[in-house]
Amino acid sequence: MDEPPPRTDYPPLSTLSTGLRCRCPRCGKGPLLRGYLTIRDACPACGLDYGFADPADGPAFFGMSLVGLVGLPLFMWFEFTVHPPIWVHAVVTAPLLLGACLAVLRPLKGWMVSEQYVHKAAPPEWASVGKHGEGSKWR
Ligand SMILES: [Zn+2]
Repeated sequence: MDEPPPRTDYPPLSTLSTGLRCRCPRCGKGPLLRGYLTIRDACPACGLDYGFADPADGPAFFGMSLVGLVGLPLFMWFEFTVHPPIWVHAVVTAPLLLGACLAVLRPLKGWMVSEQYVHKAAPPEWASVGKHGEGSKWR
């Protein structure tokens, strides 16, 4: 019996829906990550090659920024209303902020890879012609 041909008509999916759930940006079913943050080679459900995916430091940057925007006002409110001793911040506040940064890394990485898929990200096709400082009049 012949296998059906591979499917090519995938409807566009929300990058937030697939990304935040760490699912394949094309089919929305297969997992994107293996382990905590490692991107798989391909989608086990539809076969999409994840070679295009390279969010680099983006998830860490956006995660720290997001946690900083939300966490800093909460930290300040806690400090100025409760006036806890410093050891409370070491035991409560610092682990909470660290945990929040780690908790948002996976969804943010999935979201950035989904955005790269939708916007057809590809490796650069140009090569640098010089090195830092060459040709510069700033000496
Ligand atoms: Zn897939």
